[in-house]
Amino acid sequence: WPGCGKRKVDYDQLQRILLDTPTSKHAEEWSRYYTSGPHIAGKNYSQALWTKNKWEEFGIKADIVSYDVYLNYPVDHRLALLEKKKHDDDTSAWKVSYEASLTEDVIEDDPTSSLPDRIPTFHGYSASGNVTGSVVYVNYGTYQDFADLVKANVTLKDKVAIARYGGIFRGLKVKRAQELGMVGVVLYTDPGDDGDVTEEKGEKVYPDGPARQPSSVQRGSTQFLSFAPGDPTTPGYPSKPDAPRQPVDTAIPSIPSIPISYKDALPILKALNGHGPKADDFNQYWTRNMGLGYKGVHYNIGPTPDHVVVNLYNKQDYVTTPLWNVIGVINGTIPDEVIIVGNHRDAWIAGGAGDPNSGSAVMNEMIRSFGEALRQGWKPLRTIVFGSWDGEEYGLIGSTEWVEEYLPWLNHANVAYINIDAGVRGTELRTAAAPLLDHIIHAATAAVPSPNQTIPGQTVHDLWDKRIKTMGSGSDFTAFQDFAGVPSIDIGFNSGPGAAVYHYHSNYDSFHWMEKYGDPGFVYHRTMAQVLGLITAQLADLPIISFRAADYARALDRYVKQVEDKLDAALAPPSASTIEASSLIDDDTYFELRGSTRNTSTATLSSASASSASAETFKTTLRRLHHAVDKLAVPAAQLDKRADELAEELKRDIPWWKWPAKLRLGWQVRKVNTKYKFMERAFLFEEGLDGRPWFKHVVFAPGLWTGYAGAVFPGLVESIDDEDWVNAERWVDIIESRLKNAARRL
Ligand code: GLU
Ligand code: CA
Ligand code: ZN
Ligand code: ZN
Repeated sequence: WPGCGKRKVDYDQLQRILLDTPTSKHAEEWSRYYTSGPHIAGKNYSQALWTKNKWEEFGIKADIVSYDVYLNYPVDHRLALLEKKKHDDDTSAWKVSYEASLTEDVIEDDPTSSLPDRIPTFHGYSASGNVTGSVVYVNYGTYQDFADLVKANVTLKDKVAIARYGGIFRGLKVKRAQELGMVGVVLYTDPGDDGDVTEEKGEKVYPDGPARQPSSVQRGSTQFLSFAPGDPTTPGYPSKPDAPRQPVDTAIPSIPSIPISYKDALPILKALNGHGPKADDFNQYWTRNMGLGYKGVHYNIGPTPDHVVVNLYNKQDYVTTPLWNVIGVINGTIPDEVIIVGNHRDAWIAGGAGDPNSGSAVMNEMIRSFGEALRQGWKPLRTIVFGSWDGEEYGLIGSTEWVEEYLPWLNHANVAYINIDAGVRGTELRTAAAPLLDHIIHAATAAVPSPNQTIPGQTVHDLWDKRIKTMGSGSDFTAFQDFAGVPSIDIGFNSGPGAAVYHYHSNYDSFHWMEKYGDPGFVYHRTMAQVLGLITAQLADLPIISFRAADYARALDRYVKQVEDKLDAALAPPSASTIEASSLIDDDTYFELRGSTRNTSTATLSSASASSASAETFKTTLRRLHHAVDKLAVPAAQLDKRADELAEELKRDIPWWKWPAKLRLGWQVRKVNTKYKFMERAFLFEEGLDGRPWFKHVVFAPGLWTGYAGAVFPGLVESIDDEDWVNAERWVDIIESRLKNAARRL
């Protein structure tokens, strides 16, 4: 069996090479290259070519795969505050009281900030338009924020929303504003969300210190992510040049939006002072992290009176243009067991030292290390494919189109996908994974020394909070996990509390920032290359696929429990203790609550009698899922046990003349591997989720109104939120059949 018996470079030696080869120096060199100029989607061919050539230099075959996709580039914009005297009917009486700069300051210390061809501040997939209206402050623009406004009778129709960034995917803020009749959206970054590292709390701002540069702007896509990622004109199939194209109206906004800095937001927020209710007396979810009080902002909700309005003008050029993925391959001896590692290359800005090119630098270092192993005579077991994706920022386009194109092959061969987006923006390990892969993150991080040696010998694992999130969305694993049913990992070092503020999607996500604040010496880059290398090796080069089926069963049991808890919470009468102060709940919980279509903390099931009776009965129905999970747990544990036994047997040296025994062993390994390979696929449901058929996984999806954060059993949970018990029952049937399907296949 391939990989058994004596190998020239065995698994231990391979691990050694993957630990010893990456250097900070090289990572720094790759980072310097990628951050040397703009490389927005569809305008980075030179970087695609450079990447391909580098990988080939490292000894990896590589190709460029291209798609023709629909996207926008910025042409022009304006945001101004206009005022006139209260009862003046003369339209010429309007005075511009503030003209937003809509640009990020040039900083002498940071050469990226002054590049002549740097990219304007704008939103991917935003609509062109020229609108004028009173302003309403909509907090984070979550589903519940808008629900609160509607409940309080704040007029939204024909108004312009100003929302702070944070928590949920920005496209969903625009989506909800649009649905409620608002005519434009302004998104700003509130320094209150930077924790203690703020100017207000005495920190100097970038480049003199770790706090946010007041002119920094978060660009980003406003596509309606939860609908379907990828090119919005080709949902479900690849954007080849001759592909038929669908209308985009339900996939991207029809109202204009614009991202701004807090410096530009100040005059608009101040214009709201004294108008409408104050966030303070609105409700507790609105008072979180208000960071501009010290600048005179009262956080009134508005709307501003008719004589105080903003003019928002946005002009975008929509084109259908080529994108370039770079695909590298190390051919293994087992052709139909493939591990894929991917990172996007495109950035919103000229730099992108954190997002995504820390990941690009890390991946290059890992690929260089695999090249070194090949040079030393390593014969890889499984095939390893590397993807340098283009167009992630607009909506995971490069990876999604590629998955859509190669779906039949991926279905048959892809074992796992490992994603590295912003691999380093600080020192705190952050992970998300499908449960089959959880244990690999533990193993790999435990084998890599941390750059932090305050306690000598400590590993990345020692300094990790051990939290593994469920797969949501927001990066290139989405098509693999949710569309193709390939178990995935997403990993990186984030900036934690107290660390330098990371200027997400801003000009200041630059080489200079990285070198000075993010990762001085590029030591976390090197460390992440080691971690990524070990994760890949563990999946690609052990004879038995390193999955844990029992972990999946255990996770499923937890998820069913979560749904039960949700029902219980909805059935219980609201008590003071269940309504926690929003400042006490962590970010994840906060946005999960606020992104729900049902306000779980304050509402019980409506019209108590009928609904709660149904909810009670439904708890009984849910028990079927527990049974099905229990039934799955048995073969899952058996499979893991069988895998462990085989791994032991493989260690024994069977002499060549006992070839029938060898052959038998080989077939047994093959059988176990095939079961593991297809386990995740068992949870796909061809019809997809309600209203978003592209999403086919019944266990994992991005939350409908959170986007980034994952929802478990999304179809079921959404039906419960809607109190649609018939549909909820239908989802129990679907999930049960998928669980049985998985059990059968094991
Ligand atoms: N990672 C990007 C972002 O958060 C793109 C996500 C998406 O469009 O799905 O803005
Ligand atoms: Ca497509
Ligand atoms: Zn990214
Ligand atoms: Zn990004």
